[in-house]
Amino acid sequence: MKSILKALENGKVLISDGGWGTYLHQLGLEVGECPEIWNVTHRKEVLSIAKSYIDAGSDMVLTNSFGAHPVRLKHYNLQDRAFELNEAAAQISREAAGDDHFVLGSIGPCGAILMMNEVPEEEVYDGFRIQVEALSKGGADAICVETMSAIDEAVLAIRAAKEFTDLEVVCTFTYNKTVHGYYRTMMGVSPEEMIKAVKAAGADIIGANCGIGFEQMIEVVNEIREADKTTPVLVHANAGIPVVKGAETIFPETPEMMRVRVKDLVNAGVNIIGGCCGTTPDHIRAFVHELRG
Ligand SMILES: [Zn+2]
Repeated sequence: MKSILKALENGKVLISDGGWGTYLHQLGLEVGECPEIWNVTHRKEVLSIAKSYIDAGSDMVLTNSFGAHPVRLKHYNLQDRAFELNEAAAQISREAAGDDHFVLGSIGPCGAILMMNEVPEEEVYDGFRIQVEALSKGGADAICVETMSAIDEAVLAIRAAKEFTDLEVVCTFTYNKTVHGYYRTMMGVSPEEMIKAVKAAGADIIGANCGIGFEQMIEVVNEIREADKTTPVLVHANAGIPVVKGAETIFPETPEMMRVRVKDLVNAGVNIIGGCCGTTPDHIRAFVHELRG
């Protein structure tokens, strides 16, 4: 089994991939369509995304399974196909990654707020179990619990990954700056609270994703590093705040704009760097160029 932790041991900075959702829409995914059904209906397109990130120089690719929790798939009446869609997601990224790159099985929020008892905790946990087992069976090297804002949900996903697979686990939360200048998730969680909880649950790698761009990501990483000096940190930053122009959504940060800040992010303490919404293979290529020459 391949270990990301091991690959980081000598201080090497690894490069992850870029956006998936925005890329799928570019390839024709309609608004309101289930992205994960494409693992079956548009396998070639999904594979082309994973391949384009590997070709750009990514050391790892994620999987098209962000929204493949059964609770979330219910919106499309696809809840009974959760295992199939997660397994296919991992198989596709595995095919693109080959044996010498990592595959990170993506797990996003299930879409229900646990604190509000919208869905029983056991059902949420069971859905994460299905996802991690299928991603593992499909060939993922690690599980990436991402875009989290609530501790209880993130902890359930990490625990499921640790209990039902032997894979390493990454967990990233999404932060925004409050009016008081602090970084908090939508549910009010600080980086320090996140770190304590997700490490106790078993996360091997921590970090932040999505959000509003590179500049603020550096501040988030500073806060993470203030609370934790040693745990590897992964960052998937958005290409800025999207601007809607007519029918188009434009992400303002170009590969060049992000490239010039890559080293600042690494100096702040990031071990794995990639992009989220709006980032493309060109952004990844720029990161690779900046870090590897
Ligand atoms: Zn994002």
